[in-house]
Amino acid sequence: MQNNPKNVYFIENNRKEKDIIAELGKLGKRYNINEIIPLNTGDICVAPWVRLKCKYGCNKYGKSWCCPPETPTPEKMQAILKEYRKALLLCGVLRNGDFYKDNQRKRRIQVNTWKGTLALERRLFLAGYYKVFGLVSENCALCKTCTYPQECKFPQDRRPSVESCSIDIFQTLGNINKQFQIAQNVTAEYNCYSIILLE
Ligand code: SF4
Repeated sequence: MQNNPKNVYFIENNRKEKDIIAELGKLGKRYNINEIIPLNTGDICVAPWVRLKCKYGCNKYGKSWCCPPETPTPEKMQAILKEYRKALLLCGVLRNGDFYKDNQRKRRIQVNTWKGTLALERRLFLAGYYKVFGLVSENCALCKTCTYPQECKFPQDRRPSVESCSIDIFQTLGNINKQFQIAQNVTAEYNCYSIILLE
């Protein structure tokens, strides 16, 4: 499923937005965000198969406020994307030998990525983008163990992840001709992607 990319305009043409993106670029470096790419939301691909990967293959399914089935269904996400014309893709490169472990080292990296998306989202909100909303990479690790389905401990920082919203990030990268590589082992560098829906 893809939004109809009609009636979108290119963020790069807007000087104010260019300046803000440059500023975000500096802020993002603190959080391992090394590239910020403007997107038309019509380029963001939502696909039902992504949820299969959550349900069959991830131990966070049904255990987090930021993962399915708590997060928007593909249909709902499609409807949400239609309310935005522009987005930013935040690209990071990480290395984390503890990727499949549930330990403090892994959490530290996840929390840093999470906080980075929130920091950029906040900056954009203060710049006047009142609809701005971040979709974060991976799952929420702000707490050692998510309290789901009990009350969330940090609701102000709670956001759904990109994949939990059934966003097919690979197809999205293909739509903008962005090259990527799949990490071949757990010690290799890998890419992580967050998305900020702008307006
Ligand atoms: S902040 Fe804590 S309780 Fe809330 S979604 Fe994240 S891990 Fe779960």
